[in-house]
This record gives sequence, C-alpha cells and structure tokens, in this order.
Amino acid sequence: MWPPGPGYAFINNRYVMQLQVQPEEEEPTFPIEGTFNSRFAVKHYMSGDYIQCLLCGKKLKRLEGHIRSVHRITIDSYKRKYNIPLSFKLECEELYNKMKSKKEPA
Ligand SMILES: [Zn+2]
Repeated sequence: MWPPGPGYAFINNRYVMQLQVQPEEEEPTFPIEGTFNSRFAVKHYMSGDYIQCLLCGKKLKRLEGHIRSVHRITIDSYKRKYNIPLSFKLECEELYNKMKSKKEPA
C-alpha cells in the first residue's frame, strides 16, 4: 500500500516504521544512506508539513537554500544522490500547493 502512511521513515533504501516507535532522541543518523526507489517514496518524503534534510536531519519548509548554503552542494547533486526526480521541488507539499495556487492563475 502506498504511501505506507505516517510514522514511516525512509532509511537504507526502504521504509521502516520507525518515527512513531522511536523516542525522539534516537532519530536516524544523518546523512541518510540509500536512495528513494519510487516517485511515491519521494512524494511521501515531501508530503508533510516540512521536508527533512537527508544530510543533516534539519526540518525545513524548503530545502534548496539550506542545501546550497549549509552543505555546499547543488540541488541537482542532492537529488541525484537520493534519486529524486530533477523536476521535483525540494519544498513541502503544503508550501508547494500555496505557491502553485499563487503562481498559476486558473
Ligand atoms: Zn542539511
């Protein structure tokens, strides 16, 4: 069933049900190793109120500036590293929908 639902984390190339059962101080170690293996997985990653940086675990509304200024890599190399389609925006869905409704008049 896709997406698996809240409480799942994408770790080591698969979903593990983890965020709900783990105490907060035991968050997965960053950087996350592995890649997304489907667009569903990527969409799930972006479907929350924030996007978590897979390199350091920081939770942000949008990652693009963070990745460039903190990790000093390009957005494209981040996407390639995790197998995120280049057309995807690295921002959470909520923000994306807001921007979209602003930018694209019906
Ligand atoms: Zn980061």
